[in-house]
Amino acid sequence: MKLQVLQTVLNSLRELASPLHCEVCSTYLSKRTRRMLYVCDACLDSLEAPPSPNELFNRLSRNFAQDDLSISSIFSLIAAEHSAPIMEVMYSLKYRGISRLGVDFGREIGETMKHLGNVNLDVIIPVPIHHARVRERGYNQAERIAFGISQVLSIPIEKDALVRSRYTLSQTKLSAIEREKNVVDVFRGGTAKSKIINKNVLLVDDVFTTGATLNSCATTLLELGAKKVDVATLAVAI
Ligand SMILES: [Zn+2]
Repeated sequence: MKLQVLQTVLNSLRELASPLHCEVCSTYLSKRTRRMLYVCDACLDSLEAPPSPNELFNRLSRNFAQDDLSISSIFSLIAAEHSAPIMEVMYSLKYRGISRLGVDFGREIGETMKHLGNVNLDVIIPVPIHHARVRERGYNQAERIAFGISQVLSIPIEKDALVRSRYTLSQTKLSAIEREKNVVDVFRGGTAKSKIINKNVLLVDDVFTTGATLNSCATTLLELGAKKVDVATLAVAI
């Protein structure tokens, strides 16, 4: 009996904690069977599948000279066109303070990676944002995604291994070459940098656009002694 009461209380609390409407389509969220807290199952199922990891890697390779590419493989969960509803999700994740959305999607990334197999990873590193931006937003969205992946794959996150030492301009309006210049020497090792020596690293971010930021991070990680850097992002901009 007591257990049932506790269960009811817990369910009510969960109901209170969960929002009433889907972040993408605004449908009322009532079913407890849905996979995510903030997105309805229909929206989740309608998200566009990304190009295969091979195609993604080819796309990345075209943006860098062979010697400059520090990333071994790349995985994205969703293809995001500029006007697609998923962009609304990305916006919420970044600017509306809905950090739980990142964890939800991170878990989905983890499940998909597990399903694809060959998860040979030791540590997860979220792409760092400048501490001034963390102050603005309250959290780093890449860190929330990394947290979800970490829960599913049972791989630790090391958020102090890499730091962003410069406050960079927003990359949104820059060309591929400008993006590459914008992030040169932006990252350096942090207090936990020794934790990545000889490790297979999974580098995590919200969007893969040209890969300039991701590759800059990966280069620094290899310089710090990482064995290999694979990348996972929530979305790939197409
Ligand atoms: Zn929806």
